[in-house]
Amino acid sequence: MKKPATDTNNPETELREIRINPIVPTESVLVATARGMRPKKAEQPAPRETRSHVETCPFCRGNENMTPPAITSFPEQGPWDIRIVENLYPILGDDRQTPNLAFGLQQTIDGYGRHEVIIDNSNHGLAIHEMTEQHLSNLFGIYRNHMESLYRSDNRLQYVLVFKNFGPAAGASIPHTHSQIIATPVIPDNVLAEVQNSRNYFQKQHQCIFCTLIDEALTFEATIYDRDSGHIRRKIDVGQYVIERGKKFVAIKPFASRYEWEVHILPLKHQADFLQTTEEDLDDLARVMRRTMARLDAVLGGVQYNYFLHSIPHTSDCLECDASYHWHLEICPRTSIPTGFELGSGLFVNTVSPEMAAEQLRNALIGPV
Ligand SMILES: [Zn+2]
Ligand SMILES: [Zn+2]
Ligand SMILES: [Zn+2]
Repeated sequence: MKKPATDTNNPETELREIRINPIVPTESVLVATARGMRPKKAEQPAPRETRSHVETCPFCRGNENMTPPAITSFPEQGPWDIRIVENLYPILGDDRQTPNLAFGLQQTIDGYGRHEVIIDNSNHGLAIHEMTEQHLSNLFGIYRNHMESLYRSDNRLQYVLVFKNFGPAAGASIPHTHSQIIATPVIPDNVLAEVQNSRNYFQKQHQCIFCTLIDEALTFEATIYDRDSGHIRRKIDVGQYVIERGKKFVAIKPFASRYEWEVHILPLKHQADFLQTTEEDLDDLARVMRRTMARLDAVLGGVQYNYFLHSIPHTSDCLECDASYHWHLEICPRTSIPTGFELGSGLFVNTVSPEMAAEQLRNALIGPV
């Protein structure tokens, strides 16, 4: 397999290579940075909503009667900062008396599950990087506690996915800042592929593949020497994938990024289950998250994005996953529209070199620490 080009700081260097996702090798990305090769149309930044309160918005304070009743509010007393409600238009719901009959190859699983909305902030138009770290830490705490209570509520629920859509191109239909939780009776394929592949890697290498990737990202320089003469053949700057580093978390630009500005945040210390995070962990996660989002905002300006949490599934056959899986948060900014080529081939096309994107994000000027 061809090694990635290293001299990507030079804008003259055009990349055109297929990169294999090290965690899920069936997923690959065509990195094609040559101007003439740009096959995609640019997605516009989301119209930026900066109002703190909107009279007609169902998620604004004072309009609580426009949503189903709150499942949880934070804080419990007084005006709420964060609120969880049932989704008015759930894509999964309660048991039905008469599930559809499956026939032949057309197998179905009843769409049983839970679909809830987390109103991230009572302030209508506040972006993630504008929220305080304390608020973000509380928000992550609410993700964690609510995921836990969903898993506990029904043992048919095999996976709880927390995600956020921001901007219409990312699928957000309501502009008020919010996240969603979907609990499903099956483990989604994306998660299953990560779980199975990282377990295979663990069985062969006796270490977590995510930890290995973090180690590689934090290695700042590698030198390849000529075997005969001992002269330096090539120096590789592998520290080029780190965007932001906290005490406990690191934000990394994946080498095989599907989206031009995709960034992943992972705990530095091995941890499979997001539900095991402590308050101290969440404080640092909040800091790394806020700074990462500020970098994306500084470089892209009001970008539309999705983010989602991948954590160990709570199923009995995933015991070894404690050692082999490593939870993480994937942030996927939507800067271009996928084409028929991508849908037809399953091959993502990325027109910005991940090394260059990482450098721009690292060098972005962001406000005070
Ligand atoms: Zn609102
Ligand atoms: Zn690990
Ligand atoms: Zn993942």
